[in-house]
Amino acid sequence: MTTIYNFSAGPAMLPHEVLLTAQNELLNYQNSGMSVMELSHRSSLFDDIITDAEKLLRELMAIPDNYRVLFLQGGASLQFTMVPLNLAAGRTAYYINSGSWAKKAIAEAHKISSVTPVVAASSEEQRFTTIPSCPADTLAQDAAYLHITTNNTIEGTAFQTLPETGGIPLVADMSSNILSNDYDVRDFGLIYAGAQKNIGPAGLTVVIVREDLLQKNDTLPAMLNYTVQAENRSLYNTPPTYSIYIAKLVFEWLKEKGGVQAITEANRRKAGLLYDYIDQSDFFTSPVNKADRSLTNIPFIAPTAELDQLFVKEAAQHGLVNLKGHRSVGGMRASLYNAMPLAGVEALVAFMTDFEHTHG
Ligand code: PMP
Repeated sequence: MTTIYNFSAGPAMLPHEVLLTAQNELLNYQNSGMSVMELSHRSSLFDDIITDAEKLLRELMAIPDNYRVLFLQGGASLQFTMVPLNLAAGRTAYYINSGSWAKKAIAEAHKISSVTPVVAASSEEQRFTTIPSCPADTLAQDAAYLHITTNNTIEGTAFQTLPETGGIPLVADMSSNILSNDYDVRDFGLIYAGAQKNIGPAGLTVVIVREDLLQKNDTLPAMLNYTVQAENRSLYNTPPTYSIYIAKLVFEWLKEKGGVQAITEANRRKAGLLYDYIDQSDFFTSPVNKADRSLTNIPFIAPTAELDQLFVKEAAQHGLVNLKGHRSVGGMRASLYNAMPLAGVEALVAFMTDFEHTHG
């Protein structure tokens, strides 16, 4: 059978080794005679899983003690609501409008009547092909936070440096480059990410929040309240137990690979290989401002929409699947998360070279 390389933006590839471990442990987890899916979330076996998952994530990201790690549900999309609800009641909150997901975050913040979202900078007029700059002196220092999307999954751009905020906490939607870019957690007040790209299966959302931003507010619905979730160690209700288990395996895998710094280097090599090919090609082009390119989501286009379509179809026949660009931007997009091996990118570049020779 042809090797399948899955370039999906998410849910995305998981490390093969992780899937093998999950397979081995599926029917009988640690001699319990049960699968992880069947364990009570109050059992000591599951307690070990969630404790280890948090410990490993703390180690991988060097998360300081004054930050809480939460394992929640509702996807990154629910964080578009939870962040302003918990952090910005009665206040202004700044947003950088750098892509379709940022725009959705802003739209959701507008639905919370006690919050005043303000767009501090936007690249929407450039169709999100760049990262807008946001000088600190344009920001009122009493704002609750400045929200950014570190990596714009759909458009394929990423912040190369974080904006200066003065003293305003930086809140980051890191869904598409958490653990694949070496960030310093201390630069952020809050980080959130849906799991289904670099962490594990869908259904789990990771939130990392500085303790001083957590406030007691009993008027918030319990499930939407960070403080309630933190006080209950993410076990206020039944958490997504199996997703947390797979996340733990992914964290172990990443640690074995040398951690975030090592994988960031590997990701640079993978992205470099693809961008180098695109840059010298007379056929494929990158629609994104060069200085703002993402390492994880790489869009590219052929000379016509018909050729784009043909490319996606023929690539799939060669085992290179899910290369269709997001419906809002068209073309192609290769998502190169941590689990994508260099061999997958080499196979993609080899196929692109052949396609260019045939159709160029
Ligand atoms: N933000 C970003 C940057 C994303 O890439 C995505 C999903 N692709 C989301 C938010 C939404 O995530 P979810 O589907 O987990 O709600």
